This record gives sequence, structure tokens and C-alpha cells, in this order.
Amino acid sequence: MSARIGVCGIFIECNHFTVQLADRATFERSEWLCGGELLAKDTGVLGGMMSVLRANDSEPVPLLYASACPSGAVRAEVYDALKNELLEWLDNAGELDGILLCLHGAGAAVNAPDMEGDLARAIRERVGDAMPIVGTLDLHAHITPELLANTDALLAWETYPHVDAFETGERGAQTMVDILAGRLKPVMAMAKVPIVISAIHGQTQPPGPFADIMQEAKKLEGNENIYSISPILVHPYLNLPDMGGGVLVVANESETDAVILAKRLAKRYWEKRHELQPETIEPNEAVRQGLQIEGGPVLMIETADCCGGGATGDSVHTLKALLTEAPNHPAIIPVVDPEAARRAHTAGAGQAIRLLLGHRLDPKWGEPVSVDGIVSRLSDGAFTYHGGIWDGRSGCMGPTAVVRIGPIQIVVSSNATYDWMTEQFDLLGLDIAACKFVVAKNPMNYQQAYAGMMKAAFILDTPGSTPANTNALTYTGMAADWFPKKTGVTIDKPTVFASRQRDLTTRKLEIDGK
Ligand SMILES: [Zn+2]
Repeated sequence: MSARIGVCGIFIECNHFTVQLADRATFERSEWLCGGELLAKDTGVLGGMMSVLRANDSEPVPLLYASACPSGAVRAEVYDALKNELLEWLDNAGELDGILLCLHGAGAAVNAPDMEGDLARAIRERVGDAMPIVGTLDLHAHITPELLANTDALLAWETYPHVDAFETGERGAQTMVDILAGRLKPVMAMAKVPIVISAIHGQTQPPGPFADIMQEAKKLEGNENIYSISPILVHPYLNLPDMGGGVLVVANESETDAVILAKRLAKRYWEKRHELQPETIEPNEAVRQGLQIEGGPVLMIETADCCGGGATGDSVHTLKALLTEAPNHPAIIPVVDPEAARRAHTAGAGQAIRLLLGHRLDPKWGEPVSVDGIVSRLSDGAFTYHGGIWDGRSGCMGPTAVVRIGPIQIVVSSNATYDWMTEQFDLLGLDIAACKFVVAKNPMNYQQAYAGMMKAAFILDTPGSTPANTNALTYTGMAADWFPKKTGVTIDKPTVFASRQRDLTTRKLEIDGK
């Protein structure tokens, strides 16, 4: 009889430096899928999991899967509802042979700051010790001892920008197949170093400091007892204890091998810390320098307001710089402001409008700007992602308007959405190539979205909950010093924690005997 594998997960990256919490609507706009609804997934991590399970004559048993655009922490009642619903599906799933969990790893609920650790423990308590649990993670995961203790194998994405969600789902399911076949008796070790750094230099395509670590790690996979190696560049916008990046190793039977290799690679990562720290520039100065560059688009990277890192997307700091320094140059800038979007829709296309714009959702980071413009375009804000972690999935900006101030076009949307390529701008028919300036509110994906087109990119120093320089934030959760809070901080050795190797063989024998 084929193996029956429960497939489930809660996937969200959370930010403790913004006031906007993730509510039920945040997930419902994205994915809150139960039972049979999951089986239709043929893209992303779940798609990869399903394809390998089916190819190995295993039956995916769909439980619950929810995902959302990054946000503040998940409201307690929403996390409780998700977790309880998932456990209910698990209780009613019949006998299972394993569980595949699709997680981000940097989720945080108000009532469970280590959300994935809490979820994994709850599942483990239900299914017992003989059931293999394999999870997939984003490489920006915050990996905790609790998560490791309650899973048997964890594998993270290998690419940033993230293009390997499907492949990671395949790797996760293959790991499950190998465990059930008795080929893998997994034990994990995570070695961490206190680097809390933004993602600006975190690309995995060489050259780059994190790319070096990734390449070195991947060359060692498959050697002797080493099954999988996942370099981790932690999502830096959680205010939790023991934050840091490092390396997670899954070994076959040998905890010693896992620990030694994880430590060795984490030390290499520590050596690269100074290369990971980005340089930033004030927005007005960046616009002035941009004007000296021939042609466009020149990218203004306002990474401090990155919806893909949990920020609200409502900053107008760069808009103010453009209005001051380059009011006569064509530019595009996104601003999330549901009230302004509503007013633009009420006014109607072609109408003049006066708006107080920005810093409405998370007022801590700046003052709104008063603008007089023309509503040039209205949209329901619905688009489809092409590629990346949400390939084929719909995105929802909600009621959206393009408001023109001379040649400056402001995309005023109602909801935060993750930036992958330029889907949001394309939906509105904006001519990116004709612009002198484009404001991108992400630390990495702009590199692929505007490759071959951008004349230059400036990493801006603006206030916000996802800044390029993490020293702009006040971390109260960390006990000891970290880089770059103290650039001279030293460590004796990485912090290491390991999983417990479980006796999963009884389950294997039962399957063989069926
Ligand atoms: Zn990520």
C-alpha cells in the first residue's frame, strides 16, 4: 500500500517593528486552503511536494495550508484558528505515514512568538515520535531549538531572489520518501552566529558574500553522511532572542558530522559579516546624483518600506525627495494608502484631487504629504504573479489608483503586496522604460525586475520597519551584542543546537509489511 503523507503549513514572514498585525483578511486575500483545495496546487512548494509524492506512489493527504503577504505579527485569534483547524484536519486524516510542513520560518504570532516552533510541537504532540515530520523553510527563517526538536528534517530554499519554491517542495518530499524507504535516518544541527543584517547583499547568485557560503555548502551535500545543507540569512525584522544567521545541516545518522560541518560553515559566514553590511544614501542626495546620470530608469530603493518584509508600504519619504528635487522628471512610486485610494475612486478617473498621502497605516515612520494631482487610472488591483514563490497565484492590491502630479505617477493601493517583478505596475499600464526614476520598495527583487533596464540603483536611508541598515531599529529581545550593532563584536564559537534522532524505523517496517 502506498504511504499516506499529510501536507500542511502556515507560511508568513512577520515583522515586529510595524504596528499592522496580520488578521484573517490578510490570509484570505492570499491563501486559506483546506482539504481537497490543496490538491489542485501545481506550483510553489506544495506543487513540488505533490509531484514527488505522486511520482513515488504516495498519497498526499491534504490538511490545511495558509499563506499571506508579509506583515506584522499574526493576531492571536487568527493563529489559534489556523492551528486548531490544521490539527482538526490532522485528527480526521486517518492513519498517516509522515507529515510534510510548508513553512516560512520567520512567522510570529502575538501569542506564539516562535510560531513555527509552536506549530511543530503541537503537531508532534498529536502524532507521536515515530512519525517523520519534514519541513521546508525560506532561507530567511529564524530557526529555533523548538522547531528543530519537533521535526526530523528541515530544508530551506537555495535561491535569493527566491526562484526555487517548487524545487524545494520536491526536495522536502524526496526527503520524506528517503526516510520512509529507510535510506535516511535524519539528525539535524543548526549553528548560528549573531549577524542580524538586511538582505541587500544576500543574493545567492555570485558574486556576493552569501553566494559564497551557499556555493560552498552545496558542494558538500551528498558527501559521506551529509544529506542536506541550508545556509540561513535570518529575516532581520523580528525582535526575538537569539536572532542570527548560520547553517543548518541534515546528516544521515551522525549528529557529530552534522554539528562539525554546521559549525565550520557558520564560522565562514561570520567571517563574511562586514561584506554583508550595505551602504546607504539620503533620498534627496540620491535624486540629485540620479539626475547626473544619463537616461533612466534610475532605481530609488526604499527598502525601509518593503511590503515583502512586513512593512506597510505607506512611506512617502522618497516621494517627498522627488517632488523637491526632480518635480519635472517622469517617475513611478508605490504608496499603500487605503483611504487615499478610496477617495481617488470616489473622485473618478480624470478628476483633480487633493490628498493627504502616506504614513496612515504605520504613522511611526513619517508624516503624510499633501499633494494636488489628477486621478489618471483606476483599477481593482487584481493581478497574477509570474514566477517566484507565488508563481501563478493572484495578488490583491484592492482598489488602486494612479495619481499624477505632473510627470510623477503615484500608485496608490489599498493593500500591501509582495514585489516579485513589476506585476503591479504592468497591471496599470505604466511605462517604466520612459521613467527617469522608479521607486522600488524591496531590498533584492529589483535586481531581477529591472535587470538590463536600470541605469543605476541607490539604496536609500529612510525611516521604516525594514531598513537596509538594521542599526536604525531598536532590538530589545537580544541578550548579547550582535553585528552590526557593534561592528567590533567577537564570538568564541557559533551557538549550536541539534535535533534528536528518532526511531522512525518502526514506521518503515510497518509500511514494508503492508
Ligand atoms: Zn525570503
